[in-house]
Amino acid sequence: MKMKKISSELQGAKSIAVGGHVRPDGDCVCSVMALYRYLKKELPQAEIDMYLEEPPATFHVLEGIEEIKSEFNTDKSYDVFIALDCNDERLGDALSIFRRARKRINIDHHISNTGSGDINIVEPERSSTAELLYDLMEPELVDTEIAKAIYIGIAHDTGVFRYSNTSPHTLQIAAELLKFGFDFSSLIEETFFEKTYVQTQIMGRAILESVRFMDDRCIVSMVSRRMMEFYQVGPKDLDGIVNQLQGVRGVDCAIFMYETGTLEYKVSMRSNGLVDVSKVAVKFGGGGHVRAAGCTMNGTYHDNINNLSHEIAAQLKKEQK
Ligand code: 5GP
Ligand code: MN
Repeated sequence: MKMKKISSELQGAKSIAVGGHVRPDGDCVCSVMALYRYLKKELPQAEIDMYLEEPPATFHVLEGIEEIKSEFNTDKSYDVFIALDCNDERLGDALSIFRRARKRINIDHHISNTGSGDINIVEPERSSTAELLYDLMEPELVDTEIAKAIYIGIAHDTGVFRYSNTSPHTLQIAAELLKFGFDFSSLIEETFFEKTYVQTQIMGRAILESVRFMDDRCIVSMVSRRMMEFYQVGPKDLDGIVNQLQGVRGVDCAIFMYETGTLEYKVSMRSNGLVDVSKVAVKFGGGGHVRAAGCTMNGTYHDNINNLSHEIAAQLKKEQK
């Protein structure tokens, strides 16, 4: 695949900032790290900074992760800001830095992203932002650390090459990356599969309290603030619960939410493809992909389930026609 490279958009840039979405996931953290390292090599004279909320601790396997800036109170104006794995709405407190930049570039693979930069490279058929980034890089500049970050990013967004977003091209890139010889097996184990004891406990609790509805085609569970306090966990510790719920035989759509404030919940949805959960999430101000999406909702837990199931039922009904 011959693609225009990212360098063609950066001519003359003396300062570049790279950022990603709030509550950064594996693809987001790894894409930011990979691009940061790449730009430092490609433009050694330029000032390159990364802005991102503090990543989950397991990403300390990436060299240089401590260089991420998680304080956003700067009045700096960059020549270029590159927003990765999201549109401007999900940049959180980095939004003002993005807006101030002279040139804004948006690189993403979310179908719900309509493009918020001066330059938009949004390709929803891509497994991950990391995969897309790899094709925007000059191959001779990719080193082991960059390869490692791209590989982990792709692995996270494809559920370790399991989800239907994994294409032959995704695997071709993964094969090229493996040639760098890093210990991919431990990296995936440590960043994707391994959980702390409390993470495992709260997942167990959420699964135990899950409820099926709509003829058992949907499943839902919730973690309250009190539960999070009891187990001493934060939002980063709840990753993977919704995927586990989606794995129940017969379930077309899984919903997981956790309480973020009074009558406020962060919602995660997964589907086997029969329901387009991105469309559901967009209705409530969120977004994502056909099979994985999220949003923030206000109201009681039960009101939120009602509102979501109304949208899901409408889609399942259409599909039955
Ligand atoms: P997760 O459920 O793992 O947090 O997110 C699933 C997918 O939906 C990810 O690709 C994520 O970026 C997207 N997503 C989750 N929450 C939101 C949201 O509030 N807004 C938007 N636009 N996308 C979201
Ligand atoms: Mn992604």
